[in-house]
Order: sequence, then C-alpha cells, then structure tokens
Amino acid sequence: MTYTQRIAHLKPEGAYQVLAKSQALEKAGREIIHFEIGQPDFDTFENIRDAGIQAISTGQTRYTPPAGMLALKEAIAEAAGKERGLSFLPEQIVIGPGAKPLLFFPAMALIEPGDEVIYPNPGFPTYEAMIGVMGGVPVPVPLKEEKNFSFDLEAFDRLINERTRMIILNSPGNPTGGVIPTADLEHIAEAAKRYDAWVLSDEIYARIVYDGLEIPSIAGLPGMLERTIIVDGFSKTYAMTGWRLGYRIMPAGLAKKIDLLLTHSVGCSAHFTQVAGLEAVRGPQDRVREVVEIYQKRRDFIVAGLNKIPGVVCQKPQGAFYVFPNVKAFGKTSSELADMLLQEAGVAVLPGSSFGKFGEGYLRLSYATSMEIIERGLGKMREALESMVFVKPSE
Ligand code: PLP
Repeated sequence: MTYTQRIAHLKPEGAYQVLAKSQALEKAGREIIHFEIGQPDFDTFENIRDAGIQAISTGQTRYTPPAGMLALKEAIAEAAGKERGLSFLPEQIVIGPGAKPLLFFPAMALIEPGDEVIYPNPGFPTYEAMIGVMGGVPVPVPLKEEKNFSFDLEAFDRLINERTRMIILNSPGNPTGGVIPTADLEHIAEAAKRYDAWVLSDEIYARIVYDGLEIPSIAGLPGMLERTIIVDGFSKTYAMTGWRLGYRIMPAGLAKKIDLLLTHSVGCSAHFTQVAGLEAVRGPQDRVREVVEIYQKRRDFIVAGLNKIPGVVCQKPQGAFYVFPNVKAFGKTSSELADMLLQEAGVAVLPGSSFGKFGEGYLRLSYATSMEIIERGLGKMREALESMVFVKPSE
C-alpha cells in the first residue's frame, strides 16, 4: 500500500503517545501522575453545558451555515473585538469544529508548494504538520528561554525573505506559556509588511494570562488587520475541548474561501455545540476569571517547586497552563528523561523535543490539574531527579 507524499512526514502528537504509555502502565496497576495532557481539568461550565443539553432537547440538531450560525458570529465579532480593542464584522468570523481544522484551512487557502512558512520552535506540532501537508517549506524560528520564550529576533531576521508566505505566532504559547511582548510584535509586523507575508496568530490562550497582563494582538498594530488571521476557540477558555468549537477572524474575502473549504469538508460545526458556544460568549464570564486565578496559584506553586529541584531551571510563564523547565543539567535527552520519569517515578511529562528540535533539553508539564496532584508529582520528580544529580559527578 502506498500513500501520498503529502502525508508521508506526519507524526503522532507527543501528548497522545505519552498518554497511551501512561494509560498502559495504569492498566497494569501503576499509579501515574498526569502532567502530559493540555486540557483544563475543570468540567465545562454549568451554564454552557445546560445550554447544550437544552439545545439537543429542543431539536437544535440540524445543519447550520458552513461557517457558523449568524448569532454566534455576531457574538464572537463583538466579544473578540472588545477583548482586543478592535472592531470586527460577522462576515470576518469563521466557526469550525475546533481551532485545529481552522489552522489547516487557511493554510490550504494561502500556502502554495515551495512557499516558506515561519513558525515557533518549540511549538504546537500541528503547525509543522499543516505546512508539510500543503507542500510548504517549514522554517522554524527558535524561541529564547532568556526572553521568556519569545522569538529569537536575530534568527527571525535572518530567516524571513521574499519567499516567506506566512508567519505563525502563538502567544501565550504552547508548550512554553511564553508571551510575545509588544516590542517584538512590532518588529515582526514591520517585517511581515516589508515581505508581504500573512500572519497567523494563534491566540487560543489569550484569556489565560496572569498577573493582570494584557495580551496584545498583532492584528491591532498599524496595517496588520488585512494580513492577519486570528485563531481562537472555546476549548481552553471554557473547558470545552471535547465539544469541538473554534473560530477564526480574518479579512472577509479570505473568510469566503474558507467557507467553501468548510462546505466541502466538515459541512458545519455541530448545531447544539454552537448554541452552547453562544451561551459561553454571551453568558457570565466570572467562571473564566475564577479558573484563571486558580491556574495562577498552580503556576506559582509548580514553578517554585520545580526550581527547588537541583538541576532544574524553570521560567515563570505569563500565560496558558504549561511550564517548560530546562533540564539540560541532567545530561540526557528530554525523551530519555521523560521516559525515566514515567517508568521510575510514575510521572507523565512530555519531552520538549516533541515540540521541535529547539525544544530539546526541556520538559513540558501541564498544570491543568489539582494542587494535590501537582504537589505529589513534584515530590516524585524531586526524588527521581535528585538521585540522578547525585549520581552524575561520579559517572
Ligand atoms: N492551538 C494551540 C496552541 C493549542 O495548544 C491547541 C490545543 O492544544 C489548539 C490550537 C487546538 O485547540 P482546539 O481544541 O480548539 O482544536
């Protein structure tokens, strides 16, 4: 059996691989602490869940327009505009079953074979996958730990050129939790305009930010609205990963093309899921704020705990629910270390290398889990890693 060249490069996502391994260990009776999964541990907020149930009971179970219900597009245009200090029209909004397909479709509409696409590395694995499927040339830009994992702008300046068709940004970012400061966004925006490149700004964690920080969107910088595609969704903000609902904001002309791609692929997103999404956007937002406060306490706790382990250096991320500690001092690959932690300590973490080559030497831990579990996991990690540091000098 042969398959197309287009998909030959696709690899499984590290998170699913580690999850499968840890579940196999659990099945064999081991207790595993899970830090590998990037999804909120909270249930979907009650008002949203009830709106979805009510929608099913009242027969809101039919096709909707491919790019989504008008009421939801209007609500998103208003709310997303307010959050970013911008003004959007409903025809700029495209709703889809999760942010992931909405990353793929614009890539399909904009990337020709041979076009170069700049993206963050370490970064969300779907970026590299979708560039490859379109026949684009992936151009990874390293993120700098000492800049709280913002782009290495010197590398960016060296890599951008007239063949660059798209620049992908993700702030706050997966896997690092890093936020791109306004000065860096301005630098990137100037280059995007100079080389006439599109910017795909994945802002799915934009509401999960700490210390009162405001996350600027590159779309708000002068001349950027017409070349920026914002990706956002419901999975992380409203604990709705399994509902599958996301959206994009883009120039209306491009939105029409994406509408056609949706028409001929997914058809539309689930009707009742969109009704639940409408409640999420229009309903009270205090639960979002409450949950972010809880994440912030967990972030402070896990960062402090990791930094107490000799050999581990962990930056304090400003957003998302991930930490990305540097573990280079242990002299092992991140994959070896993650395996050792799983097998010996029963702690499931992701190797930084599963987010690209510049993620080597780091681990990703998701702290979207309870304080008790974080505390137990840190204790087990400390035990396993301390014995390694002490062994190391006599090796
Ligand atoms: N973008 C980033 C950076 C993510 O981390 C994720 C999920 O992990 C997504 C997009 C996909 O989200 P969705 O569940 O809406 O497809």
